[in-house]
Amino acid sequence: MKPFIYDYTLEELQTWVKEKKQPTFRADQIFDWLYVKRISSFEEMSNIPKKLRDQLEEHFNFVTLNEITRFQSKDGTIKFLFELHDKNAIETVIMKHDYGNSICVTTQVGCRVGCTFCASTLGGLKRDLSAGEIIAQVVQAQQRLDKTNERISSIVIMGIGEPFENYDQMMKFLRTVIHEKGLNIGQRHITVSTSGIVPNIYKFADEKTQINLAISIHAPNDKLRSSLMPVNRRFPFEELLKACKYYIETSGRRLTFEYALIGGKNDKPEHAEELADVLQGMLCHVNLIPVNYVPERDYTRTPKKDIFEFKKILERKKINVTIRREQGHDIEAACGQLRAKHMELSTR
Ligand code: SF4
Repeated sequence: MKPFIYDYTLEELQTWVKEKKQPTFRADQIFDWLYVKRISSFEEMSNIPKKLRDQLEEHFNFVTLNEITRFQSKDGTIKFLFELHDKNAIETVIMKHDYGNSICVTTQVGCRVGCTFCASTLGGLKRDLSAGEIIAQVVQAQQRLDKTNERISSIVIMGIGEPFENYDQMMKFLRTVIHEKGLNIGQRHITVSTSGIVPNIYKFADEKTQINLAISIHAPNDKLRSSLMPVNRRFPFEELLKACKYYIETSGRRLTFEYALIGGKNDKPEHAEELADVLQGMLCHVNLIPVNYVPERDYTRTPKKDIFEFKKILERKKINVTIRREQGHDIEAACGQLRAKHMELSTR
């Protein structure tokens, strides 16, 4: 199969055009057609010589994400279920905020991490996405917003999959989307979320980017975390906290801890007390997420008053905390729910 054009960084395109005995500015022009003009065929690259366009056609494929279905929430959230060239399905979500539009992208088909509250992991991991397949989600969403002159101003890498288990492709994706000659999304407007793949937290810290990091912590201690997230048995709580501290020291950036509140499991006042003690003195912020109901798991939602109580305890102990605004609740916007339903229907 031919490589995807979006899989090539600008530097790789420059090398490719040089091999074709063309000046390097041709690579900049191609990059501009891909990410600024956002065309969908080589034919449309009108300032590229015909011979080079034919060579592009011969050598590369465009990533085509076929829309299987799309849901639009009352709050403006749009959720796409896309089909890849190999018939696998992935999810992408556009969210509308008062500060602009953000996109949540998928990095893997399925996930092997096995968090017990997550629908994305139900069928295990099928395969990693290439950088180009992750980029295509942003380009296609942006093409849609182009019709109303809107722009995607921020990206969260929190869709299906564990981005730190597809590290190289994720970094390649990031290098292209932040490129000033391309989509030019500000590094500080991008957040990568990991379940705690410790070696890659160190690696990411050493990249010294301005990109935000979020850690899905979801429990205040080793035992409870292992029962909710099997990844904690591979990378225990203490090791995770050590890596988090290294990231904060190295980057000087505030770390976000995501904490999904699951009714009766990790949402008691004593959990809030313990979490506050564990995070004491760290440059961090806690984002409380009322867990979505996943029919395959018997988890219930934490009552509103208990969520506020949890927040109050953290605040009393001087931990910076917010409750995540729920979006797309009416369209099954929780990660993996749409894909899980699609998989179930296609195997019937
Ligand atoms: S929450 Fe993320 S890391 Fe955990 S199983 Fe789901 S997709 Fe994988």
